[in-house]
Amino acid sequence: MTEIDPLSKFGISSETVEERTALFKAEGYDRDGRICICGHPMKRHNTDTFPTTCTPSRLQCPCKKARPVIEVSDTRRFLKKTRGSGPDHALILGIHSANKARDEIKYLSEPTCDAIIIMADGTRIQCESVGFAVPTVVSKSGIVINDEIVEKDGPTGYDVFLCEKCRGRI
Ligand SMILES: [Zn+2]
Ligand SMILES: [Zn+2]
Ligand SMILES: [Zn+2]
Repeated sequence: MTEIDPLSKFGISSETVEERTALFKAEGYDRDGRICICGHPMKRHNTDTFPTTCTPSRLQCPCKKARPVIEVSDTRRFLKKTRGSGPDHALILGIHSANKARDEIKYLSEPTCDAIIIMADGTRIQCESVGFAVPTVVSKSGIVINDEIVEKDGPTGYDVFLCEKCRGRI
């Protein structure tokens, strides 16, 4: 029995599809190296909906607001699971393994503290701490530092960069 290419119904050959696919790949057509603050590739997010959804591999990520923070040469290192804030956060785990693999990592902006501080007189000021700000999980009852609370209380899906001082404020 001779095998008939099912694409012949469209007058297109499999070779043509393969050529076209290779061409698009070579041009980096669907390449989006941006990584969200949740630690997962932007292309794993559905940003057509609100809140946005994030589905890196099999695991479900609670991320509700996609926000690109870095751009990398290989997004496959950014499929980790967040266990908590700082060194337990998927963004940090991803950067760590990308760095070990000597991938390119570009910061789209400096990670500075996102906190808005409400002063006694009601004015709102942006935290201007020059200290390090780390990716922080915000749980329903506040900031989460360790994984135990993430499990119990549940993350809101809105991760932020917070300086040490602001983490202590809550
Ligand atoms: Zn995200
Ligand atoms: Zn995510
Ligand atoms: Zn701060």
